Amino acid sequence: MGLSGDIMNKVKKATETATQKVGELTESAKLNMEISAVESDINDLYRELGRAVYFAAKTSDSIFDPAELIGKIDGKTDRLVELKAQQDDRRGLKTCAACGKRTDAENEFCPACGKKLD
Ligand SMILES: [Zn+2]
Repeated sequence: MGLSGDIMNKVKKATETATQKVGELTESAKLNMEISAVESDINDLYRELGRAVYFAAKTSDSIFDPAELIGKIDGKTDRLVELKAQQDDRRGLKTCAACGKRTDAENEFCPACGKKLD
C-alpha cells in the first residue's frame, strides 16, 4: 500500500469514528427526549388524578375509581426507570437499588448507603 493509500485509510477511519460518535450522540439525545416525554406524561397523569379526586370529593361521586390512572402512572414510572437505567449505562453509572444514589459503575458498594451494587 502506497502513501496515499495509507492516508486514505486514515481519513476513512477518522470518518467512521466521527460517524459513530454522531450516532451515539443521536441515540443519547433520543433517550433524553423520551425521558422528558415520559416525565411530562407522568406529571399530566398526576394532574388528571388530582383533578378527578377534587371533583369526586366535591360532588361526592362515590363511583370514582382512581385505579386506571394509578395503573397508567405505574406503567409510565416503570418505563422511566428503564430509560434512566439505559442513560446510566451510557454514562458509566449505576443506580443503587436501596437508596437511589447514582454512582460510578466501577463501584462494588454504594458510597451513600453501603449496599452491594448489582
Ligand atoms: Zn445506596
